[in-house]
Amino acid sequence: MARKIGSRYTVHQVIGRGSAGTVWLGEGPDGPVAVKLLREDLASDQVLVGRFVQERAALTSLDHPRVVGVRDMVVDGDDLALVMELVQGTDLRSRLERDGVLAPQDAVSVIADVADGLAAAHAAGIVHRDVKPENVMLDLAAPPGQGGAPRAKLTDFGIARLVDAPRRTRATRIIGTPDYLAPEIIEGLEPRAAVDIYALATVLYELLTGFTPFGGGHTGAVLRRHVTESIPPVPGLPDGLWRIIAECLAKAPASRLRAAELADRLREQLPALAGLPPLAVPSQRAPAEEVPTPGEAVYAEADAGTGTHRRRRGPAVPLVPSPSPDSTRDTHTSLRRPSPHELASYAAESQAQRSAAPAVSHRRRTLVRRRRMIAVLLAVVLLVAGAAAAYAAFGGGGREGRHGPARGFVPHSRTSPGPPL
Ligand code: ADP
Ligand code: MG
Repeated sequence: MARKIGSRYTVHQVIGRGSAGTVWLGEGPDGPVAVKLLREDLASDQVLVGRFVQERAALTSLDHPRVVGVRDMVVDGDDLALVMELVQGTDLRSRLERDGVLAPQDAVSVIADVADGLAAAHAAGIVHRDVKPENVMLDLAAPPGQGGAPRAKLTDFGIARLVDAPRRTRATRIIGTPDYLAPEIIEGLEPRAAVDIYALATVLYELLTGFTPFGGGHTGAVLRRHVTESIPPVPGLPDGLWRIIAECLAKAPASRLRAAELADRLREQLPALAGLPPLAVPSQRAPAEEVPTPGEAVYAEADAGTGTHRRRRGPAVPLVPSPSPDSTRDTHTSLRRPSPHELASYAAESQAQRSAAPAVSHRRRTLVRRRRMIAVLLAVVLLVAGAAAAYAAFGGGGREGRHGPARGFVPHSRTSPGPPL
């Protein structure tokens, strides 16, 4: 079914669905394109449409082989569309879910490509703000890179900001996906290029191990870990590569490598990584911490089935309900920035989770003991009542016998309805 988008494009078939809309295979004046039609509620948001038009030049001007190019932006009646270069391949999240962790050389080559794309964007003054496997496309039609690794391209530049900004006018909101959020964003600083480096190093860690260093469980706990915890080590990872990851996951943004530097340092590692098999790294986090709270879970855990690694999948759920509930909205997350006090309490909560089991059984034991005491007391009261009734019926004479045992308990009461009949 062909459909016209503006005067220059026709779309034919859906090739992907994302949180912001549906991606179609289309045709433009210069050949095949991918057209992302934004969701209706986004397309009808006048503030968003305004920003879309405003940012058109910046987004369409970014032209780099490691970036999925935005060719055009179309506002046509109810349609708001982003016309992109068509990539023949798959996104990195689908690749991870299908085939599991990557061999170190492939992972490093893919991340070096993305770092090249980021370097070009940062030089143009554009911060991506939503670097994650979903936004990295593997171009399977291009000749492979070193060691046969697929070539990668970063997509969705500026889209996180564009789509979320009109709804996030309050300074307490965070744009991004919790597992990849740099600590300075959580602490309220303006996101600069270094946030993309932090997110990219998180993706590299995930490609190598199958899990992100600070992800898992309650969103608040994830945010707290970014700010306070050190990186879980990766056994079997060559030292040089570990140092690069550690530098890019530094809590202080100024200590992180720049994108171009990161690309160079990663490529230096490639010869030493040749032939290394994918790592098998068990998740470091205690299972108790990984149980997502219903309605607040960010990623449900899915056991990979092979090896010991775990992968995260499933929708990101806003900590604060979004204005338009949409189950497919899984890339951009609306979060309320926690106060320092809340961050501290998340730490206490994680601690409490770890010791939850003994606490619960202690509470249960106390409850059982209390119930037993009540049962004993009741039995004593009933025994006394029975004895009194027997005394009233047999020992207390025939005078009160007709009125039953209840009268026997209040023979002298002033509320007694008077002398027995
Ligand atoms: P969103 O950002 O709204 O979540 P995505 O950009 O992730 O949407 O797109 C959803 C899916 O569409 C992707 O996973 C990918 O498979 C496909 N897709 C997106 N952009 C392109 C493109 N330029 N070329 C080919 N396929 C694409
Ligand atoms: Mg996306």
